[in-house]
Amino acid sequence: MLWLTNIKMETGYDFSRQDDIRTKTQYAAIGIEDGVIRTIERKAALKEGEAVIDGQGYLLLPAFADNHLHLDKGHYGGSWQAVVPVENGVRDRIREEEGFLLDFLEHTPEKAQALIDLVAGNGAAFLKVQVNVDPVVGLKNLESVYNVLKKNSHRLNFEVVVFPQHGTLVTEAKGWLTEAMKHPAVTAIGGLDPATIDGDIEASLKTIFDLAADFQKQIDIHLHDGGTLGMFEMHRIADYTEQYHMEGKVQISHGFCLADQSEEEIIGMAQRLSRAGIAINSTVPLDNAPNLPLLRRNGVKVHVVNDNINDHWSPFGTGDLLQRASRAAEKFDQVDERSLAQCLSMVTRGVTPLSWEGELLWPKPGDAADFVLVPAESTAHAVARVPLERVVIFRGQVVSQR
Ligand SMILES: [Zn+2]
Repeated sequence: MLWLTNIKMETGYDFSRQDDIRTKTQYAAIGIEDGVIRTIERKAALKEGEAVIDGQGYLLLPAFADNHLHLDKGHYGGSWQAVVPVENGVRDRIREEEGFLLDFLEHTPEKAQALIDLVAGNGAAFLKVQVNVDPVVGLKNLESVYNVLKKNSHRLNFEVVVFPQHGTLVTEAKGWLTEAMKHPAVTAIGGLDPATIDGDIEASLKTIFDLAADFQKQIDIHLHDGGTLGMFEMHRIADYTEQYHMEGKVQISHGFCLADQSEEEIIGMAQRLSRAGIAINSTVPLDNAPNLPLLRRNGVKVHVVNDNINDHWSPFGTGDLLQRASRAAEKFDQVDERSLAQCLSMVTRGVTPLSWEGELLWPKPGDAADFVLVPAESTAHAVARVPLERVVIFRGQVVSQR
């Protein structure tokens, strides 16, 4: 057994002062075997020869998960490049990348590695990676990114989404999506804006859902379209999800249309998404983020993600999911102890140490020993203050520390 000792664990909430709920903690030790938690004790029952990691009194958090990250077309890890202004949003960005994708290929391995170092060093132990498959680059990015990810499998788990950035229909017209579905790393098929990029909502969604059904993959549709058009597309995605019996296997990234709706409309859509088991990924943009706490309260699984970090779409991004969760909390006024703590769930695929009622949910024996240790008094404190010091543990091994 390997022991992680001297860690602070949350044990419940102190409700004795009605308006001033505090988090209760205690010091503990975790016994780990084969990368899995075997036992949680007040003190380590150390046997001779057993290895010990000293947690330095830091708070134990579940390792973070990035549910939407691009590793194949950024500037990060290369020389600095700001964004070149364009007139026409998504369409112009696609035209722009058609010009550089092949030139970028040579440097993709070192840039992908630099991004992994950044995001994993901040505490992520799971990456759902979007890889361009398009008529320009074919499957070349897929091979390149997969090779880099494999080299990092000692420090994180990963899945790969085949992402037809230039349009589902133009990419599948050349057979690239069918070809990509056969790759062993691929777990999901992507898509984007069925109306404004593919120009045919039904043909686009049918192609995506047919591929997912034929190859038993999940779906991630990047929906930038706003207003009633975006809401209509979201309804059609929910219809297709139910028709194909893919509840729980579909996610929508961005969903900007939800940001310009009334609360009543958002709640109606949230209930629809919840019934169809459709999750929402959001980077929490300052201007048009969907109301994530409102979606969560109405049963939608919500993931706060990095997406792109300093690429041709945006010069920003720290690669720190804890900071993104903090931004969500700040933007949507989640300021009390329990609301702040719940925001962590958006970067851990739903895992929080305590439930809203204060019941201990995590960690439990049998859980993977994937942790982030931070100098904080509680999850709420970590979400609000975003401490820079992190010790990242994957399968019981320290994989980064700062
Ligand atoms: Zn993206």
